[in-house]
Amino acid sequence: MEINNVQVCNVCLSPSDDGEKRVYVKALCGGEEVLICTSCIPRVIHESGELVKSNAEVKATLGL
Ligand SMILES: [Zn+2]
Repeated sequence: MEINNVQVCNVCLSPSDDGEKRVYVKALCGGEEVLICTSCIPRVIHESGELVKSNAEVKATLGL
């Protein structure tokens, strides 16, 4: 998801502003748009969509 123009992975919560070059893929989960970083994409594909947090869960985890 995007918080203040910072992309945050809905699986591992890695932010786009930590200095590392990361690609985020936009996807839909539970009817909402989510972002998944490329290192998490294979996990979601091979394991389960259960790994993807809802935007509300991401915000709660980040204490927002
Ligand atoms: Zn990730």
